[in-house]
Amino acid sequence: MINKIAKDIYMIKIPLPENPLKNLNSYMIRGTERNLLIDTGFNTEICYDALSDGIKETGIDMNNTDIFLTHLHSDHAGLCDRIASPNSKIYMSRVDSQYIKTFFNINYFENLETFFYTLGFSKEEVADNIKNNPIVKYAPPIETEYTEIEDGYTIDLGNRMLKTVLTPGHTPGHMCLYIENEKLLFSGDHIIFDITPNITQWKGFYNALGQYIDSLNTIKNMPVELTFSAHRSPTGNCKERIDELLNHHETRLAEAYNIVKQYPGLSPYDIAAKMTWSIRAKDWKAFPVVQKWFATGEASAHLDYLEDKGEIKSSNIDGQIKYWTIE
Ligand SMILES: [Zn+2]
Repeated sequence: MINKIAKDIYMIKIPLPENPLKNLNSYMIRGTERNLLIDTGFNTEICYDALSDGIKETGIDMNNTDIFLTHLHSDHAGLCDRIASPNSKIYMSRVDSQYIKTFFNINYFENLETFFYTLGFSKEEVADNIKNNPIVKYAPPIETEYTEIEDGYTIDLGNRMLKTVLTPGHTPGHMCLYIENEKLLFSGDHIIFDITPNITQWKGFYNALGQYIDSLNTIKNMPVELTFSAHRSPTGNCKERIDELLNHHETRLAEAYNIVKQYPGLSPYDIAAKMTWSIRAKDWKAFPVVQKWFATGEASAHLDYLEDKGEIKSSNIDGQIKYWTIE
């Protein structure tokens, strides 16, 4: 199903069944030189059918179309290789593309086993997550070639110029796309209007939450009148949403700090179990392991931030990270 949301811009709604994100908003921009497809969906048949039907409905030919991926996550990148024509460039930030090359090899999750264990997961939960995590299951082929781009890179469609804005946080190299003369922003997963973008800990990417907050301020300082985001309802008031997201993380930081203060010496997994989550599960034990993985990653990102600020400290005790407040 497609919606024309602006002159020569279509939104293609891609369903993400059994996923709390519910749908991916993919965007197709008709240019006079080239067309541009922004984000693609998981590498599954359901997503492929929705995307290819949507593209057909726009009447646009992939032979004249390039693809821009806001970031490396499989619900955005999954279908890029399948939907591309031999003439299509697949743009991705150099940072995320290099991250895939460095870390997302066959042994990615095997290598992460120890990492999960240090966060407090049991061996059984680590094995379950490796098997069921959609980031691995629905990823594009590892050998996909990306056209690596930097912050401020311009994609010229003939009738429109789109400029990349590097917004690290949700992933190490997340990028938004900005059309200056229309004050129009494609915000990807950096700004989502009715759910909070997941911020997690990444190997080799320091203080993800601190970087995310800086990236929210980058966008806050830009003139934006129209925003199109990648999940759920596509648009809303960008500046108000940024303030809500900044407040949300302030509240979460206070919550994490108070848990560490009240229960010194817990692992990120146990701290996550004590935080409040808006997921339909009776209690922490009933969380599907993939959701525990997201929650623990989110807790870790907040703990990293607090540690960077000098409010808490961590220690590795028998292979697991534990936290204490600094009085
Ligand atoms: Zn994402």
